[in-house]
Amino acid sequence: MNKKEAIRLLNDKGYKTTKRRLDILNYFEGEDRYRTAKDLNDHMEVKYPGISFDTVYRNLHLYNEMGILESTELNGEKQFRMKCSHDHHHHFICNQCGKTTEIDVCPMEEALRMLSNYTIEDHKFEIYGLCPLCGTA
Ligand SMILES: [Zn+2]
Ligand SMILES: [Zn+2]
Ligand SMILES: [Zn+2]
Repeated sequence: MNKKEAIRLLNDKGYKTTKRRLDILNYFEGEDRYRTAKDLNDHMEVKYPGISFDTVYRNLHLYNEMGILESTELNGEKQFRMKCSHDHHHHFICNQCGKTTEIDVCPMEEALRMLSNYTIEDHKFEIYGLCPLCGTA
């Protein structure tokens, strides 16, 4: 997902692309890693002093529900990043900087052999740790 695709999606669903909503997209496109609601709020407060955390949070969840952002739990907190829109893959996620590395291996191929009579609806697989930059610091 990039900013342009996100704007098209918002328009298709009848959501207004306000300046604030565009700024949230800019933020996540620029960061390119997992960030918390507080990170986003701190960023928005610089531009919109006194903006309510509720407003920021509502938009964050709207984006998450629409598939513009993806989320995960990192260090006990929900975090968000721009959703990848290309072929199926998984992520290594750095616990420190929140950056992701794509993994082209899908463990489902193995798992399906053990679940032949089951209907699989979805799956999630993520690896957490420290990226080379954070690990040597
Ligand atoms: Zn990805
Ligand atoms: Zn890192
Ligand atoms: Zn997979």
